[in-house]
Amino acid sequence: MEPLRAPTAAENRLLTDRFGRVHDYLRISLTDRCNLRCVYCMPAEGMQFMENGKHLTFDEIEAVVRVAAKLGVRRLRLTGGEPLVRPHVEQLVARLAAIPGIEDIALTTNAIFLAPKAEALKQAGITRINISLDSMRQYRFAQITRGGDISKVLAGLEAAFRVGFHPIKLNVVLMKGFNDDEVDDFLRLSMEREIHIRFIEYMPIGHDDDGWRNRYLPLDYVKERCLALGLTPQPEAAVFGNGPAEYFRLPGAKGTFGLIHPVSDHFCERCNRLRLTADGNLKPCLFWQDEFNVRNYIGDEQALADLFFRALDIKPETHEMAKVLFGERLSHQPTERRMSQIGG
Ligand code: SAM
Ligand code: SF4
Repeated sequence: MEPLRAPTAAENRLLTDRFGRVHDYLRISLTDRCNLRCVYCMPAEGMQFMENGKHLTFDEIEAVVRVAAKLGVRRLRLTGGEPLVRPHVEQLVARLAAIPGIEDIALTTNAIFLAPKAEALKQAGITRINISLDSMRQYRFAQITRGGDISKVLAGLEAAFRVGFHPIKLNVVLMKGFNDDEVDDFLRLSMEREIHIRFIEYMPIGHDDDGWRNRYLPLDYVKERCLALGLTPQPEAAVFGNGPAEYFRLPGAKGTFGLIHPVSDHFCERCNRLRLTADGNLKPCLFWQDEFNVRNYIGDEQALADLFFRALDIKPETHEMAKVLFGERLSHQPTERRMSQIGG
């Protein structure tokens, strides 16, 4: 691959930050809009969405990814909001897949629109898929998503198997007193199908603290449920991906389960990711406020590359979400964005 010009010292370090973490993974949010309203992600009312025309265009996203790839980014994840509400996502996927250096493009989706689009997305170059499903009970799924139809998600999941995405992961945000009584059901699902359940701790992103604190559940709870069921989980080599989950397999299980515990035990020392929001802001850390808008630099590859390095230069060592739990003072300003405005 051609470098932008003779590499400077900065370029030689690729996307390495002050703490030696190499960044080869970019999460791209395609929109802040969504066809669901999950309780942990968006408020019931009053959500302000970006105006039409403010989203990065496919041309702009491609331009940013071309530079990122020259700086060592190898893996992409398309997210949102709900990425599949953006028309013609498969066209963007095909363009990104053709960029030299990009080896892997994954998708995180609520799967409501997945069934009819799965084949086109696979053909375009999506390899791996994460589906968010926090409850397997229709009434509760509708409650969590404020009106979602679980049958569409399940049809999307079956389509994902049919067209051959691999691996297929299910994201389950655990909330105390809400869906923690379904841990056993999700564990059973990991036994019966080649599916990888990722239990995720509820994060205090854009939330009033008390509402979050009352629902937050540390993921040791999942291990306790395994023992209560008389099952000893075996540590499993990471299921292919970029993520921070530690994986386990129950005896005889076809799939695995993973624990993503950003609050109770953060994994910042292994962070390899940058985020690009739908309105064109590069975010070095999910939790903190700092952002760098790419829009004015598109068309100038060197200026865009410098922006990536500026974002990395201020990337903090860790996010301090646990301090929110104990009401402790934070060292930086947390983001005011909701998760749907970042992309998870
Ligand atoms: N709409 C897509 C979906 O739901 O899969 C992609 C965007 S969504 C923001 C990405 C992920 O963030 C989802 O798996 C969702 O469950 C997770 N998420 C949203 N808010 C969260 C929160 N407060 N804590 C933990 N995970 C959250
Ligand atoms: Fe939409 Fe995903 Fe947020 Fe749910 S978690 S409201 S599906 S963006």
